[in-house]
Amino acid sequence: MAETNWNALKDATFDLAILPWGATEAHNYHLPYATDNFEADALAAGSAQLAWEKGGKVVVLPTIPFGVNTGQSDIYLDINLNPSTQYAILCDVAEVLNRQGIYKLLIFNSHGGNNFKPLVRELGLKFPKMFISLSNWPQALSKGEYFKERGDHADEMETSLMLYLKPELVLPKKHWGSGASKKHKIEAFSEGWAWAERKWSQISEDTGVGDPMYSTAEKGERFYRDITLKMGNFIFELCQADIDDLYQ
Ligand SMILES: [Zn+2]
Repeated sequence: MAETNWNALKDATFDLAILPWGATEAHNYHLPYATDNFEADALAAGSAQLAWEKGGKVVVLPTIPFGVNTGQSDIYLDINLNPSTQYAILCDVAEVLNRQGIYKLLIFNSHGGNNFKPLVRELGLKFPKMFISLSNWPQALSKGEYFKERGDHADEMETSLMLYLKPELVLPKKHWGSGASKKHKIEAFSEGWAWAERKWSQISEDTGVGDPMYSTAEKGERFYRDITLKMGNFIFELCQADIDDLYQ
């Protein structure tokens, strides 16, 4: 939608709107602050294109560039959007779609700190005619089948994706930090069944979590292809779905 015009849209109708949502934050020493936004732009567009080619009537809205960065308040220029602000934005976007008869909305999340589940629950009550869902593309495939090193921020996966999508914005390898990170002393937090926000500046020196060392553009391309294929099928299914008859 960011690249189209009124001439193309004035008589158009869509079944599904996709709202990509990223973040603006440090990504180790070598990736740009808008890494999550570039990923969201490319993956949402690529996935929606595949759905469109199958006949899905989907429109991709412009990416929201700021996300929840409450745990990085002391990292220079990481821009935080509070969850309550995200809810206010979502209400306004959903209101437009609802008024104009686009009843399906997919929030295409690209940033680990964004947690849309409670917001989608609340939106659902406010817009009962709509079917609002969310997706987290980093979880759509098993990263272990594509990448050697595990991580969750500026890691081998993100560095590989950016080497494929925006190589001109990735610093040369000599600048890459190791992405070493500290674990919680309290085991329950490391096991994942208890949760507390990580104070990012205390767990990682270079802001990365995950070693980018083995990243390549080829790995990024393969992952991009497979993610867009899987998400494209999902988006097509969402376009086709009867929201009054979703269960079997
Ligand atoms: Zn990221």
